[in-house]
Amino acid sequence: MSALSFISNYGSSSDESEKESEENKRLQPQCKKIKLQLPDLSCVPIVPPESHSEDPQDHGGRVRSFPHVRGNWATFIYVKYPEEESLLSLSQRLLGILSAFKDSCHVCDNVHISLSKTVVLQYHLITPFTRSLQEVFRNIDCFCLDFSGIKVYCNEENTRTFIALEVDYSSKIRLLQLSQNVDDVLKEYKLPLFYENPSFHMSIIWLTGDKKAELSSLMSEFNNSLNKELGNTINPVLVSDLNCKIGNKYFQFTLQ
Ligand code: AMP
Repeated sequence: MSALSFISNYGSSSDESEKESEENKRLQPQCKKIKLQLPDLSCVPIVPPESHSEDPQDHGGRVRSFPHVRGNWATFIYVKYPEEESLLSLSQRLLGILSAFKDSCHVCDNVHISLSKTVVLQYHLITPFTRSLQEVFRNIDCFCLDFSGIKVYCNEENTRTFIALEVDYSSKIRLLQLSQNVDDVLKEYKLPLFYENPSFHMSIIWLTGDKKAELSSLMSEFNNSLNKELGNTINPVLVSDLNCKIGNKYFQFTLQ
């Protein structure tokens, strides 16, 4: 339940109302006493400070791109990939090719296609922000998602390299429209927008450090066999909802 809903629960029970009206009769009309019940905040999620570890070892070597500040919630919008198991054989094949890097290689979990960067939202904006997203995603149809090849990316801080499946042309057109809708909401909340030239992809393996140049040339050596593996094991999927993660809260928006 949102903090707003708790505020709207303010009020008094009928017994108390009777006592109050007796009391109010005794008071001057201009100084009526209104007694408010305290809201029950026991269900409001509170994240203990201990859960925010700053030690990169606790995150598989990942470095937080902005420091944790109480009240600031890391937020991003994405398409969740529903068939994670189908990636298994392609991931194994890639790990084989990447054997020289095996100490810094990690298989991605919660595979997704990002529609925004990770932005920082303040707690009191969570409800209006998700309502704005709901508004821009209204009347959007489900669509088919497929991939066209393997591509290497590096994050903006150059601390992590990603081996990813790049989406195909028709998926790109749909994702572009969605990320523009998301950008409209981000603009409204004065938050950083997505890339000017977004390249929609699903990261499946990540490595520490900037290894983009060497991994791009390694991937192009195996281009033909990787594309064959991709075509044989990864089928197109229907995207019927969009997702938003805000801190430890998950929101889902159903498409038509
Ligand atoms: P993701 O798997 O969505 O977290 O993306 C992995 C990384 O790709 C992110 O850290 C982005 O910074 C990076 N990236 C680099 N260039 C682009 C681009 N043109 N479009 C989208 N992501 C990009």
